[in-house]
Amino acid sequence: MIYDHILVRYGELTLKGGNRKVFVNQLRSNVKRALMPLQGYEVKANRDRMYIKLEPQADVEEMMSRISKVFGVHSISPVLKIDKTMEAVYEHADQFAQNYAEGESFKVEVKRSDKQFEYETFAIQRMVGGEVLKNVPGLHVDVRNPNHQIMVEVRLDAIYMYDRNIQAIGGLPVGTGGKTLLMLSGGIDSPVAGMEVMRRGVTIEAIHFHSPPFTSEKAKQKVIELTRIMAERVGNIKLHIVPFTEVQKQIHKVVHERYTMTSTRRMMLRIADKVAHQIEADAIVNGENLGQVASQTLKSMYAINAVTSTPILRPLLSLDKEEIVAKAKAIGTFETSIQPYEDCCTIFTPKHPVTEPQYDKVLKYESGFDFEDMLNDAVANIETLVIDKNYQVQQEAETTWGDDLF
Ligand code: ATP
Ligand code: MG
Repeated sequence: MIYDHILVRYGELTLKGGNRKVFVNQLRSNVKRALMPLQGYEVKANRDRMYIKLEPQADVEEMMSRISKVFGVHSISPVLKIDKTMEAVYEHADQFAQNYAEGESFKVEVKRSDKQFEYETFAIQRMVGGEVLKNVPGLHVDVRNPNHQIMVEVRLDAIYMYDRNIQAIGGLPVGTGGKTLLMLSGGIDSPVAGMEVMRRGVTIEAIHFHSPPFTSEKAKQKVIELTRIMAERVGNIKLHIVPFTEVQKQIHKVVHERYTMTSTRRMMLRIADKVAHQIEADAIVNGENLGQVASQTLKSMYAINAVTSTPILRPLLSLDKEEIVAKAKAIGTFETSIQPYEDCCTIFTPKHPVTEPQYDKVLKYESGFDFEDMLNDAVANIETLVIDKNYQVQQEAETTWGDDLF
């Protein structure tokens, strides 16, 4: 079967009255970017749907696989555009049906927006069904629960036919929902959190706290790789790598051991907030999950969150770990996330972190040092990488561990 179009349906976009044009334009450019550098197609978008016109050499399956991962695409179908005659419809319906297995059922579904077309919807359904039954033995019709649905859309310009409807990722086109800063560790959760907000049309930049030599070059490369995987969906993502060693050492000097985790998170958030302002992001995203670990009790979130009034989005807040793992597998980050390279927090994690930090104690410990200059210093020394789906990480020798720093 040589398809000449891919039909792209927007789904939820239909809800967006006045902004619709903006959404459709953004989706079109995101689809085009996802298809680069493939050849042999032309993208045409209108209010209701998008058609990708294919030249014969186009790799339809590869194109469909890419388009189905673009946020804002609801479903896709490979389509035949044919003459507006019943003979053409019969011929192509037979072609579809010849690929069905013996004993399978089908149904013909007609949508007729050209009200001038000589036959009515039900007549076309009956006629096409009858032809298929006659020409392709071994099939039967089942209108309730068919194995295959042959779609015939009679439109003004042509008739469009297809029999596959492939579910795509859904959501809203990235670029239509503002910008956020994602706190990206090397763990399982934060890349999933990033994907969840991107799925709602939001652009992300990522920030990662790196504490060499306690955290190795490999840990950093893991985060680069996670960013690369996320960038497959959107073209590219900026990753801000913050040198965090000095801050962590200072926290351990002045804060009671059981509260170091709380203070570490607070300092991370203070830095993230500064960066969010710089890049004009309107919210910060993290992978926190209610009750999962000591730093994620409500009391902990309260003490950590208190450093900023910038909204913090926690898309994974109420999910079970298995649900998060399933999502990480689906988006392709799981295998990278479980590589055993240490995170800066793991290394400095106290044996018995306080699970219900008292806010006044947090403030008291932190008052032993004015962190502001140190945090500004960390921001000034951020390394920013623009990572696209082809980003190549250079293999550098792993840094050796130095215990002299403790
Ligand atoms: P994850 O799997 O995302 O690491 P987690 O369940 O291990 O999450 P924590 O380690 O408590 O949870 O981290 C909570 C959140 O804090 C992370 O999801 C991430 O958003 C942020 N975070 C933790 N460590 C870092 C880091 N080194 N750099 C940037 N963000 C971090
Ligand atoms: Mg973690």
